This record gives sequence, C-alpha cells and structure tokens, in this order.
Amino acid sequence: MAEGARILALGAGLLAAAAPARAQSSFADATSMTWDGVLTGIFLGLLLFSLAYNAVFYRLLRERFLIWQSVRALSYFALTVALSPLAMGPWLAPDSFARQVWITIFFDLSLVVSGVFLRSYLEPGMVGPRLYRWLGWPPALILLTTPATVMPDADTYMMLRSAVLVAMLALCAAAVVIALKRGSRTARYQAAAWSGIGGVYGVSLFYDIVLGQPFDSFLFLLFPALGLEVMLTAFGILDRLMRLRRERQEARAQAEAMRIIAHTDPLTGLPNRRAIEESYNDEPPVAIALVDLDHFKAINDHHGHDVGDRVIFAAGVALGSGSALAARVGGEEFALLFRGAPAAVAIEAERLRQRISAYVKQMVPLLERPVTASMGLVHIGRDTSFGAAMKSADINLYAAKESGRNRVVFIEAA
Ligand code: GH3
Ligand code: MG
Ligand code: MG
Repeated sequence: MAEGARILALGAGLLAAAAPARAQSSFADATSMTWDGVLTGIFLGLLLFSLAYNAVFYRLLRERFLIWQSVRALSYFALTVALSPLAMGPWLAPDSFARQVWITIFFDLSLVVSGVFLRSYLEPGMVGPRLYRWLGWPPALILLTTPATVMPDADTYMMLRSAVLVAMLALCAAAVVIALKRGSRTARYQAAAWSGIGGVYGVSLFYDIVLGQPFDSFLFLLFPALGLEVMLTAFGILDRLMRLRRERQEARAQAEAMRIIAHTDPLTGLPNRRAIEESYNDEPPVAIALVDLDHFKAINDHHGHDVGDRVIFAAGVALGSGSALAARVGGEEFALLFRGAPAAVAIEAERLRQRISAYVKQMVPLLERPVTASMGLVHIGRDTSFGAAMKSADINLYAAKESGRNRVVFIEAA
C-alpha cells in the first residue's frame, strides 16, 4: 500500500525520469513529429487558451477561482516545458538537477492551489466549514516535502511526502464527492474533469501493485488527461460564471423591486412620502401643494372602507395625470411637486384639484354627492427644506379647510 501511495503521489521524480525518453522520441528528429510531441503542443495551446479565457472573464466578474485556475494553468505550463526535451542553457539542461527542482516545484504548486481553487469554485455552502478550512492553506505543507524528491536515499521523508500528497488528494476528492451529493453542478464538472487523471493514475497503480511493472504509457496518457481536465474545468468555469451572473442580475432586480416597493403607495401606485421627499431633495421644485379630500370620513361611514379606498384611488389617478409629481402622503392626503414655469403653477394646481371631483364621479358613480378637495399651495424659496415646505403647505391647507373647503389657498410662505 505504501508503494501504491508512492505511485499515487506520482511525484515529479516519476515524470522527470520519463522526460529523457520523451526527449529522444519527440524532438530528436524535427522532421518526424511523434504523437506525444503533438499532444504536448496541443496541451500547451489549451493552457494558453485557458489563461486568456480566465483573464477575460476576470475582467467581467472578479471571482477568485479564476486566479487560482490561472495559477494551476501556469504551473502546468511550466511543468510541461520542464518535462519537454527543450534545451534551456547549461543550467537547465533536460536532465539537470535544476530542471528536476523546477519540475517538482511546479508540480507541487499545481496541487497546492487545487485546494484553494476548489473551495472558491464550488458554490457556497457545498462543503462544511472544517473541510473548507482544510482546503485552504494546509495543502501548502506539500511544499515542505518538495525537497524529498531531489534528495537521495530520503526514504522516510519521501514516505511523509506521499502521505501529505495522498491526504491532499483525499481532501479534494472528499470535497467533490460531498458537493456532488449536495447537488453541486460545479462538482459535476470537476468530477468529470478529474476523472481522466484519476483513471490514468488508477491504471498506473494497477500496473504497479497487481502486475508489478511500470505503466509505460503513463506520460503519453497523462497529457491528454490533463488536457481534458483543463478543458472541462474551463466549461465548468463558464457554467459557474453564467450562473453567478444570473444570480447577481436577479439580486439586483430584486433590490430594485424592493426599492420601488419601498417608494410606492400600494393603494394608488403613486410615489409615497419617502419618494417625494427624495425627489424634492434631488431636484427642488418651484412650488408644493398639499391636497386633502373633504369630509372623507363621511364616505367611509356611509359607504364603507372599500368605497373609501376607491375614492382615494380615483383621486390618485386624477392628481397623477397632470404635469406635477403627485404622491400619497397620508390617508386621503396627497402632495404635488411643481417643476414647470412658476407663473403656470396656480392654474395647473386648481385644474388638478377640480379634476379630483370629475374623476371620482366617473370612477365611483354610486356616490350621491360630489367629492371635493382642499388644497394648500406655496412657492418654494431657495434652500427651503422639504419639512419646512410641507409645513407651509399644511398651513395653507388648514386655511382652505377653515374658509369653507373645496378651494385652494395660495399664500406665499414666510
Ligand atoms: P376634512 O374635510 O376635515 O379633511 O374631513 P375628513 O373627514 O376628510 O377628515 P379626517 O382626517 O377626520 O378623516 C380622514 C379619514 O380617512 C379617517 C380615516 O379613517 C380615513 N382613512 C385614512 N386612511 C384611509 C384609507 O387608506 N382608506 C380609507 N377608506 N380610509 C382611510
Ligand atoms: Mg379630509
Ligand atoms: Mg386628512
């Protein structure tokens, strides 16, 4: 089993050992390209595509998993270049020590970020808080065992490394399985993406443990498996981003709907007091009016609350049909903001006030007597607050009621 774990950990040593063989077969003769050379090329192309793709998406949605996936793609890229027989100067010759260190570091790095990638990539709440924490920085412990791959006769150290690697793989696998059980779509993509690599390692394990011989096609199959991983992860990322975008759009639409509800009077559909105050502060009007239905209580008393509501609704329609911004600010009380020419305000105000009677008559025909309204109107001076303007309008409204109702009182505010 320890032997198996060692293989499972696969380790850069194994990859590195295979590299010189690839060197001879794929690049020795430039005129005869072999399959593993072609596959390596395709894989590098896929990685570049994945990097560009993540960068484009990151500009649209600043999701952390795009960064982690890019780090993985870059690590794969560096690993692939290091495994190729490309001569890179005397220090980095294909079978040099420096090249082996390079291979191991990037191999380990790709594993270390797989945990943080996975936890930011899975939908929130898919793995428990403990597993979530373990997928964070604990996998970086792998880097403490990286030297084991280049140290001769470090058997115990290498065993420790294998244990850490297996633990890391088990964590990632557990996260995907748990998320799958909870119905995560992202986990489905990731399970498919990792199945190729898992299969290749599985066969390699089978060769090692059952057949007792190395699996020669390991590297040949590993690159297509990694390519499949990169591709399916890209599809998974696209799917996740599209869902994230939709969720955000829905959340925004919901917030907007809530905002509208919070600013709208449910009975008349007119803006409410809060809305008109905001409108006043955003763009102060030239005049403001308060309108109150006369003897409204009597309508409620004689015809019931429902009919009273229909009267309020009709009054709202009447006031909302003019050029002033109308709002319902109380039971049967409305406010109007005038923003047109100051000279036209009084005429428009009176026209709207009279319109109430006409609309109520048409929309609530069962009433015997006409419904009238009183209005207090004031011009707005510079720097007059909403509260002060409403107070002045209310004083004029009171004056209109006091002087017999069914009229507008328009006295300049003090
Ligand atoms: P005035 O001419 O002095 O304004 O007399 P009024 O009867 O209109 O005045 P008052 O403020 O005494 O009565 C207003 C009534 O409006 C009292 C309240 O029961 C009623 N009311 C408040 N909100 C609503 C509502 O949403 N629907 C209905 N049907 N009635 C309401
Ligand atoms: Mg009233
Ligand atoms: Mg009233």
